[in-house]
Amino acid sequence: MNKPRHILGISGGKDSAALAIYLNDTYPHFNFEYYFCDTGKELDETYQLVSNLESYLGKTIKKLDNPEIESTGDDPFDFYYKSFRGYLPSPQARWCTALMKLKPFEKFVNGEPTVSYVGIRGDEEREGYISRENNIQSIFPFRKNIWSNDVMTKFFHPENQKAVLDFFQNYHKGTNLDRIFSILEEPITFDKNFKAETEKILKRKVNSALDLGIPEFNRTVFDFLQTTDYALALEEDYALLDNEDVLVREDIFRILRESGVGVPEYYEKIEFEVDGKKGEYARSRSGCYFCFFQQKIEWVWLYEQHPALFEKAMTYENEDELFTWMANETLKELIQPQRIKEIKLGHIQRSNKKESKSSPYLLDILEGTERDGCNTCFL
Ligand code: SF4
Repeated sequence: MNKPRHILGISGGKDSAALAIYLNDTYPHFNFEYYFCDTGKELDETYQLVSNLESYLGKTIKKLDNPEIESTGDDPFDFYYKSFRGYLPSPQARWCTALMKLKPFEKFVNGEPTVSYVGIRGDEEREGYISRENNIQSIFPFRKNIWSNDVMTKFFHPENQKAVLDFFQNYHKGTNLDRIFSILEEPITFDKNFKAETEKILKRKVNSALDLGIPEFNRTVFDFLQTTDYALALEEDYALLDNEDVLVREDIFRILRESGVGVPEYYEKIEFEVDGKKGEYARSRSGCYFCFFQQKIEWVWLYEQHPALFEKAMTYENEDELFTWMANETLKELIQPQRIKEIKLGHIQRSNKKESKSSPYLLDILEGTERDGCNTCFL
C-alpha cells in the first residue's frame, strides 16, 4: 500500500515558515516535501526567508514553475495579467490565487494521496484552504484541533455516531465515556439552511471531546479515518496524534528567531508621526507587494518604505477602464499628502482603540481587520 505524501507550502509568511521549522525539528523522521508558489511579485524579504529556510532545513523548497509561462519571459503574475487584458484581481475575482497558487499546487500533488500541513495558529479562529480534491487532506499542527472541518463534519455526522462511539470506547472509560456519549447525543443537522448553528454545535462537540484528552480524541479520529478514503487512512500510525502543543503568535516569532531563520523585516514596526501624534506601521502579511487585500495604511507603508515597488504597483492601474487595486480610490489619490495624513491619523485612532482592549501588537490590529484575506498567500 502506498504511503501518502506529506507536504508543506511555504507562502513566504511567518506562520508557514515556523511550521516548517517546528515539524522538521519535532518529527525528523518524516519525509516532508516543501514547495513555494512564486508569483514573481513578492518582496525581497520573502525570497530571503525562503532561502534561509532552505539552509536551515537542509532541503530544497521546490519552486512550482510552469515552463509554458517561463518560456514567455514573464513572471506568473504578468503572464496572467496580460492574458486577462489588464483586468486586475480583487477579493471578488481572485484569479491570482486560483491560477498562481491553487492550480500549481494541485498539479504538484498530481492526484496522489497527500497530507498537506497548514500553519493556522492556535490563537486564530479560522479555517484554512481545504482542497476539493479527495486525495488531499489538511492537517493543522499548531492548533489543539489538528483536523480540518470536513473531517470533523464526517466524524460527528449522525450516521457515523455509532461507529465513532465504538472507537471512543478504546480510549475512554467510566465518566469520560458517559461524557462522550452525551457529546455524541447532542443533535446536529448538516442542513445548509442552518450553517451558522451547525458550526456552533460542531465546534462545541469538538472542543468538549478534546477537553477529555487530546491524544484520545486524535486516536479516535484516526481510527475512524481508517474507514474512509482520506490520505491518513494509508498510514498505520501517525506521530502527530500524541502532540498536545498549541502554538500562538509569540511562539512563531520565537521559533523564527531561535532557529536563526529570522523574522522577515517587513513585520518589524516602524514609527511615524503626524500632527504631533505618534503611530506605528508595518506590513501584516506576506504575498504580492500590491496585494489588494492590504490595508490603506499598508499601502502608505509601501509608498514610504518601498517607493519603487509602489510606483510599479501604480503602473498596473488603468483609471480609464477602472482597473484599480482598490474599489474606491486609485493609488494616485491615496498618495496625496492630505490623504496620507488622514489614513495615518485614522490608523492611530483605531490602533489606540484596539490596543486598549486587546493585543499590543500592531500585527494583531492589522490582521484583526483583514481576517478573511488570502490564507493561501499569507500564512
Ligand atoms: S498575495 Fe494577494 S495579489 Fe498575490 S496572489 Fe495572493 S491574493 Fe493575489
